[in-house]
Amino acid sequence: MCEPPTQRYRPDIKCCSYLPDLPNFLVGAQLADARAEPVALASIRRRIAAGAGVTPLGLGRTRLFDSIYDPSESFGRAPGLLCPHFVAHDMSCGVWRYRNGVCATWFCRHDRGVVGLRLWESVRSLLTLVEESLATYALLEVGFEGPELAALAAWRATRGPPAAEELGGAPDPARLATWGAWSGKEEALYRACAAAVYPLPWAEVLRIGGAPVAAAHRVACFRWRELVYRELPAVLLGAPVEVLSRSAEAVVLVAYSPSDPVEVAPRVYDAIHALVGPTASLFDRFEAATGESLPKDTLWRLIDAGVLVAEDG
Ligand code: SF4
Repeated sequence: MCEPPTQRYRPDIKCCSYLPDLPNFLVGAQLADARAEPVALASIRRRIAAGAGVTPLGLGRTRLFDSIYDPSESFGRAPGLLCPHFVAHDMSCGVWRYRNGVCATWFCRHDRGVVGLRLWESVRSLLTLVEESLATYALLEVGFEGPELAALAAWRATRGPPAAEELGGAPDPARLATWGAWSGKEEALYRACAAAVYPLPWAEVLRIGGAPVAAAHRVACFRWRELVYRELPAVLLGAPVEVLSRSAEAVVLVAYSPSDPVEVAPRVYDAIHALVGPTASLFDRFEAATGESLPKDTLWRLIDAGVLVAEDG
């Protein structure tokens, strides 16, 4: 990803120019893990000490980060946005076992291209909903009552420019109010949340998450079946593509993602028009246009890369 033809990322940043939202139970599990690297614990404790975005729900993104983060511009390229949990000396993630659903499901390239992307996006939505519901469930389990929950709801609803504390100012009183009796005991709270959540079986997670999690779970299962079972659409359409390079041996195309180009033989690229239309006669049309037969795996590569798309989406 750091080299042509994609060249989208700096090797010293990879895809970690990001500030992850870590739910309380993942933070607590990281803190309680006897195998945790000191560097991982230090990165968690630095965020807690800095305060910005830190509430009983977990280590949240800051309004400052959200106001300057632009994935299309800075992702993989802006050292100033490097994740606090990135371990520079070995280019790894310090909180790997406890990273959130966004980090766990983000890939720059996918098995089966856009089909794989759809699966991982659906798993990301599912895990994010699960994290939100379990973080709140944990607070109820450890005894949070109306006043702290009201302060938390008010703080979450706050919009606007970065708080002064995010820019070196005094701690935000609205954020401090969310801690109630747990004020000053952040680590203890996060550990208690981990203890409440980690023993839960999946059936209980589904019950706690309710209809939104159940629906996201069904979507993820549907996307998984799409990945595993191939079904040729009745009609294929051509999608907009960008030609990154062309030589006598190969044409490199970008369709569904600039991170995941596909390489095809020039004779295939020049005959793509013959593949648009009903798939029942597709192989015959290709042969009539080129005098050669089209390998099935080449057709699937074009579909998975998003160069050819199903008429019905
Ligand atoms: S939590 Fe880990 S994977 Fe996620 S951005 Fe940070 S270093 Fe990268």
